[in-house]
Amino acid sequence: MKLKTLAAASTAALAVLSLLTASGLTLSTSTMDREVTRLSDMVREVRSIMELEVHLLIHERESVRAALTQHPEHARARDAARDKLERWLEDLRAAPVTEEDAGALQEAELEVEHYLAVRADQAHTDGQALSPVESSPVTADEADHAYAALEEVLSTKLAEARVARARVDEVKRRSEAVSIGSASMLLLGLLLALWQASKQIYRPLLAIRTAIDRYGAGSHDARAPNGGLDELRAIAVAFNEMAAALAEQRRKQLGVLASVAHDLRNPLTALKLTVDRLKPDRPLPPEERLRPMFARIGQEVARCDRMLTDLIDIARIEGGELELRYEERDARELAREVVELYRPTADSHELRLSLPDEPAPLRCDPLRIGQVLNNLVANAIKYSPSGGAVQVTVAREGAEIAIAVSDRGVGIAPEDHARLFDRYFRAPSSRQVAAGVGLGLWAAQRIAEAHGGRIDVMSAPGEGSTFTLRLPVTESGYCTRAARLQSS
Ligand code: ADP
Repeated sequence: MKLKTLAAASTAALAVLSLLTASGLTLSTSTMDREVTRLSDMVREVRSIMELEVHLLIHERESVRAALTQHPEHARARDAARDKLERWLEDLRAAPVTEEDAGALQEAELEVEHYLAVRADQAHTDGQALSPVESSPVTADEADHAYAALEEVLSTKLAEARVARARVDEVKRRSEAVSIGSASMLLLGLLLALWQASKQIYRPLLAIRTAIDRYGAGSHDARAPNGGLDELRAIAVAFNEMAAALAEQRRKQLGVLASVAHDLRNPLTALKLTVDRLKPDRPLPPEERLRPMFARIGQEVARCDRMLTDLIDIARIEGGELELRYEERDARELAREVVELYRPTADSHELRLSLPDEPAPLRCDPLRIGQVLNNLVANAIKYSPSGGAVQVTVAREGAEIAIAVSDRGVGIAPEDHARLFDRYFRAPSSRQVAAGVGLGLWAAQRIAEAHGGRIDVMSAPGEGSTFTLRLPVTESGYCTRAARLQSS
């Protein structure tokens, strides 16, 4: 799984859960709100009815008292009670009415209005000195009817209020269930997302970090496990490949060290044997024997020097520090120098040099180009049998100077040609023939490229090889010394 997919899936899942939770809560809140409003309307109506009942009774009491005492104080109290009764009646009329209880409510209102009207008439009559005791039973009846009608409405309203209350309780229970359910789902979703993040990101990252730490501490076999998100897997694979490549490089470097030590031993042994013959406690051999001994010492020291210089150059090229000191030189001169260098040591091979009559001017670092040619000639000698011919040819090919080194040696299989210039590569066909480390051609190709040129190879197994160094010709820098060179 990719990081993008995991993040998108977790975000989408959490968003859906949050949306569900929010809609659930909104729905239950609005239902609750509706039910509570209905309940509070009912409570208001119940209160109005109860107030009506109370003020009906107060009015009745004050009316009777006023009739009995004819006292203006009591008449005022009765009128005040009437005002309140009428106000509460107004309040009840203003309350929203459902279809079911509209009839009962209207009847109760009519009864109360009727009672008030009868009482008002009676008060008027009382004012004309009728006996209050005579009139009381008539109004008591009206009051009873009004009270009974109010009681009926009240009991209906109370029953409705109880149902509404039960509904509110039910909605409350449901919203609690929705809240707890959605909170648990969200928590679960969050835990799931965290678990996935730990499994797919945290633990694989930790494993990669541990592998890197172990590698850094010297465990070169440390490898990162291949798990988690695709991106982390790719990092683990890249780390493992890098670790394997470094291990392989290390193995090859150790091989190079062993090979260099082995190669150095030959000239050193020759030096030691020669020097052993010049013991301090013995008289020196005559001059005619001394001279070849010193010549041999010189040759072996030069060999060691060449090997060490090559090694230092390789290290420089690897570190990107190859410095070129350009000079104008003739390729024929450089080819001749290298052949002359090898001729005395390669008595088992026939070294031939073929040079053109025209100058072959190059702008190059002669030391480095000499090193490249040395390597090609040394390989031609190394990988061809004794008595074989090694041919060095200089030719001008258009805008290039080509210096070819050919031999009739073991040759190289076509499938190995492409890898010849890789570091540490050695063709299987030549491994039995001579020791080597596979760095010379790599360094030679880097030097050729640094001069804007290249080395090409033509070879077939058992038929020999031709390595050709091609460099751009320089028209500006004509070398006067070059004109004196002859082919040989
Ligand atoms: P080394 O000779 O030390 O192995 P080089 O980089 O000079 O390293 O050469 C790389 C490989 O190319 C050699 O090991 C050998 O397999 C092959 N090679 C180079 N020159 C020749 C040649 N003239 N004939 C056959 N094989 C060659």
